[in-house]
Amino acid sequence: MTDSKTMDKLVSLCKRRGFIFQSSDIYGGLEATYDYGPLGVELKNNVKQLWWRDVVTSRTDVVGMDAAIFMNSKVWEASGHVSEFHDPMVDCKNCKARFRADHIDLEKNCPNCGIKEWTDARQFNLMLKTHYGPSEDSSSVIYLRPETAQGIFVNFANAVTTSRAKLPFGIAQIGKSFRNEITTGNFLFRSREFEQMEMEFFVKPGDTSEWLEYWSNARLDWYKSLGITEEKLKLRSHEDNELAHYAAACFDVEYEFPFGWSELEGIADRGSYDLDQHTQHSGKKLTWFDSKTNEHITPAVVETSAGVDRTVLTILVDAYHEEKVKNEQRVVLKLNPKVAPITLAVFPLVNRDGMPEIAEKIMDDLKGDFAAFFDAGGSIGRRYRRQDEAGTPYGVTVDSDTLSDQTVTVRERDSMAQERVSIDQLSSYFRDKLC
Ligand code: ATP
Repeated sequence: MTDSKTMDKLVSLCKRRGFIFQSSDIYGGLEATYDYGPLGVELKNNVKQLWWRDVVTSRTDVVGMDAAIFMNSKVWEASGHVSEFHDPMVDCKNCKARFRADHIDLEKNCPNCGIKEWTDARQFNLMLKTHYGPSEDSSSVIYLRPETAQGIFVNFANAVTTSRAKLPFGIAQIGKSFRNEITTGNFLFRSREFEQMEMEFFVKPGDTSEWLEYWSNARLDWYKSLGITEEKLKLRSHEDNELAHYAAACFDVEYEFPFGWSELEGIADRGSYDLDQHTQHSGKKLTWFDSKTNEHITPAVVETSAGVDRTVLTILVDAYHEEKVKNEQRVVLKLNPKVAPITLAVFPLVNRDGMPEIAEKIMDDLKGDFAAFFDAGGSIGRRYRRQDEAGTPYGVTVDSDTLSDQTVTVRERDSMAQERVSIDQLSSYFRDKLC
């Protein structure tokens, strides 16, 4: 469902069920900054693990790394971020609201106060600055990284030497990035602190178009593999005037959010821009030796740059459903079991006749292999509804029949269909369904 209230409903479900909270909530919050709660952190970790498996460990041509967030400021001078990484900003002279000039129509009135009195657009650098160490002078200025990619480029030589990589090969990492965005909003979509999953794939110059196509399709397929509605996903090629300062060509993976088609990930042909810049600024050779031709070459790069939080938001928006069940409204997150924070919930029907003990024993047996959760509080209907909202694919209920025949009811979240399964078959039953 994609009505305009979907985002509000999702934000409140995320809070209610412990997925995502406003940061510093007890102090009135901090605009556009979010904390992941018990369910949110599981969902987010699942996303990161699935990405890592797809991009790194299931392949032989990509290695991982984890660079520090703090980097020498010279990195950002070399990469062009100090001089180029800005967005155009305008203010409304009447109400003082501030906007990204490329996100609104300056021929129209201010969306905030309805008056048309714009300042000229000026460039605003998106990097957050702080001071490193105990002195606060210009020599201690340092930036919070606005992308994880540069940590990979400056480690290019280390990675090549230690992993003896041969072109084409990639280096991947997941980590926090920070951007002092002029305007934030749409929940997790645009915040000032977010996490990225980036991979730089080094190829022979001249091979970039082929790899750009390969990775664009591979990345689109990955989102489909998470169970996101295929018709709401697409690849969009950038127009020349949209390209970032380093990119020769770029595809975005886009999703149709309730607020319109928007970017989830960029796949860009960065050419040899970054390695050339770092070679020039550091004076260090960042080349790869081709033993076949006896040449040192500077590889070109195809980058895949995805947002963890945007992926989490997409999964949640896509999974959110409201249904009428027996004249009552049911809210259900139809999460793919791969990403669901809890895979199965175990319930005693009532808290007597030994049912809680049997349910706890089942929980103990299953929790090593599955993300299992035990809930004995409230009516069984309420417990099912809570797990529907948490996106839990299966419920296992111990009832009075269990006492005589050692079977339990397994309820499937989406169809709400129920079947009896013998307790000693549960593990293989779920393995068949889920693995
Ligand atoms: P936009 O045009 O939306 O500002 P961008 O093109 O600057 O995005 P990239 O630099 O390509 O974004 O960043 C790669 C990915 O990092 C994005 O596709 C997105 O998933 C994520 N990302 C970038 N900025 C933010 C942000 N402010 N909040 C959350 N995720 C972000």
